[in-house]
Formats: sequence, structure tokens, C-alpha cells
Amino acid sequence: MSENRLHIDWTACDGRGLCAELLPEILVEDDWGYPLARSGEVRPVVPAALRKNAERAVDQCPALALRLVGEILNR
Ligand code: SF4
Repeated sequence: MSENRLHIDWTACDGRGLCAELLPEILVEDDWGYPLARSGEVRPVVPAALRKNAERAVDQCPALALRLVGEILNR
């Protein structure tokens, strides 16, 4: 079983918070416009219902700082 998570490359991200606007269910902006996961996770889980929105955020990130990654779950 696997799940998708959103990886944010902090060295590439230039803030401004576009991804937080596109994925408000998962991300919020900090005071400087950088995205933070609502869940507090470094790589927040992307529920299946939000997969398309997450792909859109990845495609539209101007700094190519977002990536969807799959993680194998050992449950
Ligand atoms: S859209 Fe990309 S560059 Fe902009 S805040 Fe999000 S991760 Fe950073």
C-alpha cells in the first residue's frame, strides 16, 4: 500500500504562497509567504480526493520546488 505526499524543496522555494492558494486544504502560508503543512508534517499526505489539485500546484510552482512522492506503507 502506498500514499502520496507533497515534498517541498526549501532550497528552491521563493515564497509568495501560490501553492497555499491552490491547496488550502493541505498548506497555509507563513508570515513570509512560505508554505507550511496544516498537519505539521514535513511531507504532508495528499488525500486521493486532492491529488489533481496537488498535481496542478506542482505544475504551476514557478520555482519547480514541489514534487509528489509516493511512500510505501508497512501496515
Ligand atoms: S508555489 Fe513553489 S515557489 Fe511558490 S511558495 Fe509554493 S513551493 Fe514555494
